[in-house]
Amino acid sequence: KRGFYIGRFQPYHNGHQAVLEGIAEEVDEIIIGVGSAQLSHDMQNPFTAGERVLMITRALEEIGCPFYVIPIEDLRRNALWVAHVTSMTPPFDICYTSNPLVIQLFREASISIKSPPMYLRETLSGTAIRQKMLLGEEWEQCVPPAVVEVILEIDGVSRLRTISETD
Ligand code: ATP
Ligand code: MG
Repeated sequence: KRGFYIGRFQPYHNGHQAVLEGIAEEVDEIIIGVGSAQLSHDMQNPFTAGERVLMITRALEEIGCPFYVIPIEDLRRNALWVAHVTSMTPPFDICYTSNPLVIQLFREASISIKSPPMYLRETLSGTAIRQKMLLGEEWEQCVPPAVVEVILEIDGVSRLRTISETD
């Protein structure tokens, strides 16, 4: 049985990690879709698809369940979005998501859904973590150690600060 999980992962954080550790107990293989793959270098989406693939792959090195990380560009045609996704991924049996639009689209395509619980949503959200980076607050404890390394390697915090400036 294969399970699918999608997010933008800007950045990949401990909430995503907790959800995926739970999914790993329930399926034989995990497919992780990196959404809005075409976006990077903006305030809501500072990291490239490739950088996000690196964060996820490194963070899941010891998860003990085979996984595939697949960038998926936005289609901006919701009625065709499930077909777009499934054209890019290995076949899967179940989609893990709490996003109401994603739930609706998969339900209409007769694909099973499971909604995992949220972990510490106030601190563990991409938005909150990007805000901490901008303000110079501690963000490192919100992401897996492997993600800290990737963000340091690509100088991600300076990038986010630079793109937040105006000319
Ligand atoms: P952003 O604030 O940038 O939207 P995000 O934290 O919501 O970031 P996404 O990449 O948008 O992260 O989310 C991917 C998936 O992870 C979504 O289905 C979202 O509901 C889920 N998710 C986000 N934060 C948590 C969390 N703390 N615990 C469990 N699931 C989470
Ligand atoms: Mg989100």
